[in-house]
Amino acid sequence: MTLSKGQEIEVEIEQFADRGKSIARVDGYVIFVPHGVPGDRARIAITRKRKKFAEGRIVELLQSSEMRTEPVCRYFGACGGCTWQNLRYESQLEAKREGVVTAMKHHGGFENLEIPPVLGASDIYGYRNKMEFSFSANRWLTTREIASKEPLDKTFALGLHAPGRFDKVLDIVSCDLVPHPRMAIVNSVRELARGEGWTPWHVRKHTGYLRNLVIRIAHHTDEIMLDLVTSARLEDRTRKLADLLARRHPEVTTFLNTVHSGPSQTSMGEHTEVVTGPGFITDKMGRFTFEIGPNTFFQTNTAQAEKLYKVALDFAQLESGDHVYDLYCGCGTISLFASDLADRVTGVELVPEAVDAAVRNAERNGVSNCSFFVGDMLKTFTDEFVNAHGRPNVVIVDPPRAGLHPKVAGRLSRLGSERIVYLSCNPLSQAHDLGVLNTHYQIDRVQPVDLFPQTHHIENVALLTHRGGT
Ligand code: SAH
Repeated sequence: MTLSKGQEIEVEIEQFADRGKSIARVDGYVIFVPHGVPGDRARIAITRKRKKFAEGRIVELLQSSEMRTEPVCRYFGACGGCTWQNLRYESQLEAKREGVVTAMKHHGGFENLEIPPVLGASDIYGYRNKMEFSFSANRWLTTREIASKEPLDKTFALGLHAPGRFDKVLDIVSCDLVPHPRMAIVNSVRELARGEGWTPWHVRKHTGYLRNLVIRIAHHTDEIMLDLVTSARLEDRTRKLADLLARRHPEVTTFLNTVHSGPSQTSMGEHTEVVTGPGFITDKMGRFTFEIGPNTFFQTNTAQAEKLYKVALDFAQLESGDHVYDLYCGCGTISLFASDLADRVTGVELVPEAVDAAVRNAERNGVSNCSFFVGDMLKTFTDEFVNAHGRPNVVIVDPPRAGLHPKVAGRLSRLGSERIVYLSCNPLSQAHDLGVLNTHYQIDRVQPVDLFPQTHHIENVALLTHRGGT
């Protein structure tokens, strides 16, 4: 098929692909179509052409798929936050299930794993307890904004990145993933910053003061943390913002200023100063209260995280006498739930502040059978570690997107615990790791849980049982 950039053709969208895109085929040649939905007939314009595949943008929807629904957000399509607002929720769940099936097949070699329906959410909007917004001196305009012909300042934005654009940010005044009234806080910060003439970060020149604004909203308590990430500490400015928050947004219970002067695009800074409040928020899950600091990982959908942990603990089948390893334990959420059922829990986590929080979380909840250790899994999870702390009979792992380091997977296989419960936010790396662990363990059960409605992301839990022998 000879296609050229800019050319318009009519296609049928056939199936979902990775990362929330969809696929059309022309004579067997693959075209990725962002925001296409299987069942659509569309006229698309080729935006990118490669040897084995192309990418196309929908110019006109000729026939719309039955899976479609009207997106609620005015930024949908231009914003990199949501990929699937145009899909009915039942279809999102089915697409996520299919994604897990395909990942297990292609990345783990599992042809016949039974993947049950995804455990869906009852709140499919307003569920996020954390949002990280970016300031930018390069504003990305939506087609609607351009069409409005209003004079728009293109040198200041506070919002989310346009899809695939690390250098451009959409200015966002409403976000349907955030509990509704809370965007008012973000909008007040923008108003003050612009009024005062504070400069946003320029990603290429590495200049400007304002870098990120992170908001964390406890789901069960009314506590809210605001962390302004800046390139320098300017106390008169953070004071001014603190005064505004006290006046207009007393719902913010703690306000922090993180300084990050380096060029890398992360909100993790060199130092965080507590401007007002205790410097952390607390939230509840089950019978436990958790302390959450600015650098502590905490699942972003509290209600669904509770379901996720319930699945993980059901799979773990803990009983008294058990010793559990909770690897990649964050601030000890799973550890505390496991501590109620098992004799003891040993947690390992990379971020020191998270481990400090885990220790305090155990204390504040009156839990005395958990120990937590700081370290990179690769260096910490060794034979010496196991000799020093005891062999676990159940291991729970919850690694970041990249999955397990091959050496960590190897050690886990050889450790020979009866069961491994593997939680993952990336079924591709999980499937690969399960393929490796499969030599010593059989995959007994799998359960996907939807923590991220309106996006293509999914959490997946797998139960691995030792085959016996060594
Ligand atoms: N189980 C926890 C956290 C899961 S997120 C929860 O549900 O809340 C993954 C965690 O792994 C994060 O806290 C991250 O800081 C940690 N992590 C990432 N890389 C790591 C590594 N190499 N070694 C140890 N921990 C790591």
